Amino acid sequence: DHIANQIAAGEVIQRPASAVKELLENSVDAGATEIRLIVADAGKSLIQVADNGKGMSETDARLCFERHATSKISQIDDLFHIQTMGFRGEALASVAAVAQVDLKTRRAADEAGTHIEIENSMVVLQEPCAMAQGTSIAMKNLFFNIPARRNFLKSNAAEMRHIIDEFIRVAMAFPQLFFSLSHNGQNVFHLDKGSLKQRIVQVLGNQYNAKLVPVQEQTDYLNIQGFIGKPEAAKKTRGDQFFFVNNRFIRSAYLHHAVMQAFQDLIPADAFPTYVLFIDLQPDQIDVNVHPTKQEIKFEDEKIVYAFVQAAVKHALAQFSI
Ligand code: ADP
Ligand code: MG
Repeated sequence: DHIANQIAAGEVIQRPASAVKELLENSVDAGATEIRLIVADAGKSLIQVADNGKGMSETDARLCFERHATSKISQIDDLFHIQTMGFRGEALASVAAVAQVDLKTRRAADEAGTHIEIENSMVVLQEPCAMAQGTSIAMKNLFFNIPARRNFLKSNAAEMRHIIDEFIRVAMAFPQLFFSLSHNGQNVFHLDKGSLKQRIVQVLGNQYNAKLVPVQEQTDYLNIQGFIGKPEAAKKTRGDQFFFVNNRFIRSAYLHHAVMQAFQDLIPADAFPTYVLFIDLQPDQIDVNVHPTKQEIKFEDEKIVYAFVQAAVKHALAQFSI
């Protein structure tokens, strides 16, 4: 029912940045090569993602806002074989429960696109529309129907910081795609497609141009690749540390420690090395379903991953200092 729906929605969409993450990931899943994020008032009044992905049929455009209607999980075993970013089929249903939604979508083969407006999880308008292939989803007035949650949101500066963090994580994982972000009509990021190294410099800043060392190592069990900052680029503040497992951003104090150990004695004790590391392993070696926002995962054998990360970073550091 309606209340249960709103409570469930609050689990998935906790703040504007949660919606940003879900919308960006859907565009990636749809095979888009250009993804534009537009926000106003730090997402409190508008979050819009427009892409050139495969689009949706008229039926799917209606169905995508129904909880689990599109879930890719048909049996529990599927949880361990997830190839796309999304898999719970509840992000858009959650968005529709807590914001006014304006969807426009068109597949390449369709003559016209579909325009749908949703309020309180109900379709209030549906009409054909003219548009290029792709999808645009705008969510307006987040939590307009749940004042308690709306009042709980932080300042625009704080909420914008969260949005930028989520945007950067997705943009970092897909350097082969174009991304842009604008806030209140001002351009914040304009990221042309390129190599991972170029994307890191675009996002973290030009100071990394000559200060990145490649990491690349492989076993039968797992693969690691990415870049670490040279020790001289280490900072006293955190923020430039990224782990991705099978292309999903994750937080891991445990793996962070592995990198810190590799940098030991090369940087001051109170400094943090920069790293952007992608770990890939068989999907059945991880469980991504332990946290609703999917930022935490469990490894089947975390000690192996720890040792591997530490060794790969050490090798990269040794090569660069020869
Ligand atoms: P999930 O991503 O877990 O499947 P969502 O609620 O995020 O669930 O999305 C529901 C469905 O709507 C997706 O599975 C997809 O079929 C469709 N969809 C959502 N966003 C897009 C998009 N940008 N382009 C094409 N299809 C989309
Ligand atoms: Mg999704």
